Amino acid sequence: MSSFAGSQPAPDRSSSGPHTDENRQKRTDVNEKEREQLIGEWNFPEAPKVSDSFPGPKAAEVFGELSKLETPQIALGSVLPFVPEEAKGAVFKDVDGNFVIDFCSCISVVSVGHQHPKVVKAIADQAGKLGHVFDIATREKLDLIKRMSATAPPGLRDDCFVTLALSGTDAACAAAKNARMATGKNQVIAFTGGYHGVFGTALAMTTGNRYREDYGPLMGGVVHLPYAYCYRCPFGMEYPKCGIECAKYADSMLNQPYTGITDAAALIVEPVQGEGGFIVPPSEWFQQLKQSCEKHGCLMVSDEVQSGFGKTGKLWATEHFGFEPDALIFGKAVGGDQPLTGVMMRSEHREKLVLGSQPATFSGNVISLAASMANYEIMTDPDLDLMGRATRLGEEMQSIFVDAQKSVEQIGDIRGLGLMQAIEFVKDPETKEPADAGAIIGIMIEMFQKGVIVVPAGRWGNTLRFMPPLTIKRDQFFDVVEMVVDTIKAHKDALTG
Ligand code: PMP
Repeated sequence: MSSFAGSQPAPDRSSSGPHTDENRQKRTDVNEKEREQLIGEWNFPEAPKVSDSFPGPKAAEVFGELSKLETPQIALGSVLPFVPEEAKGAVFKDVDGNFVIDFCSCISVVSVGHQHPKVVKAIADQAGKLGHVFDIATREKLDLIKRMSATAPPGLRDDCFVTLALSGTDAACAAAKNARMATGKNQVIAFTGGYHGVFGTALAMTTGNRYREDYGPLMGGVVHLPYAYCYRCPFGMEYPKCGIECAKYADSMLNQPYTGITDAAALIVEPVQGEGGFIVPPSEWFQQLKQSCEKHGCLMVSDEVQSGFGKTGKLWATEHFGFEPDALIFGKAVGGDQPLTGVMMRSEHREKLVLGSQPATFSGNVISLAASMANYEIMTDPDLDLMGRATRLGEEMQSIFVDAQKSVEQIGDIRGLGLMQAIEFVKDPETKEPADAGAIIGIMIEMFQKGVIVVPAGRWGNTLRFMPPLTIKRDQFFDVVEMVVDTIKAHKDALTG
């Protein structure tokens, strides 16, 4: 196990952990009770609850027809053949009346939960007033950008401007474009195991073969360096004895002659790799990368499309690691169920960007802006303390997995921050040979049949990731964690292959 997991005793699940000060304890308990009650109201109470014939006949009708009409490039639908009709909190209700727990927040999107009443109201109110404008000013755009700037991580806080976009892919492309314009340089550094999107510069930065094959030539000028994946150190070393060899290597690549990297505009890195398998590098790696970037004169850009906006227990994942990014790519949970993504970039670079060079028809969509503001209000509400709750639940989840690891040696690595947790499976803990992706899909399908959605990740598809909405009910959360452990145990032999 690489990071953050400890061998604590089994936690008391009736509250969220011990507190030192007695008065604070009492107040917290009251808040805790109120919070859990509220969270209960935002969710469907009974889940998972599925019939023997789940998904069911109505789903089969829709799914059967749609699967012939939609592109086969969309993978998840084929293994999750149910058809949601409503959702509340962490729970979908489908067309056949089944209640399914969304333990992946629709891939890290609905962090405040599905159909949070405040978000629904914000969307409805805005839809009745003004929905779309072209690239012009609105009060909603001003308010949201001010809020973003005020809550940005150090390095950008109160000192950034924002480029709005519609998908993480767009935003990653915009970040590279902005960095090129700002520095007058050309190359982009990205990392092995990274995912930034599926078109243009973003695809050239993304490393997974399946996204790139049969689709060349990709954009040039992108160079990949090894990510700090300590469980499988690219240099065969062990943290912390390694002296952060991977950071030294990156520095040599950026700052020595004869490496082929002559004019890097940006180094774009995920603070916690998402599709790559929820990998959490050591802080020193980021801090040393930042120094290398400064020496080379390139901008350090944090891609927080998946890891950002609260789920790691801090609003921005960057904040865990003590480095100051020059730009930050955001997406997914920032808009919640409305498409709103973009880039925050340090103000000093603003004057170098060319007037009119980045129009985007829908980027100022007012309904999305209103929804995002509601998401911010919920996520940063100090009484609700969703990020603190995510930290506590994540720690409890990790200690349950650590316990399970004692009897399941195929659990190779347990890692994550807050409610962004993962288990990487191996055939053998000594050789660390990755478990077959098919065995992980087997676990996923059995979980689905029990009414819970979990999804894989990782370079070999040998990792299961867990990122439920931060507003999942406590009892549902622990029911799912237990179910995950039971299902893994039942699939032990298949994992060995
Ligand atoms: N960056 C990261 C870190 C991501 O995880 C993703 C999506 N998984 C993207 C960019 C691309 O986002 P989108 O699917 O919205 O284009």
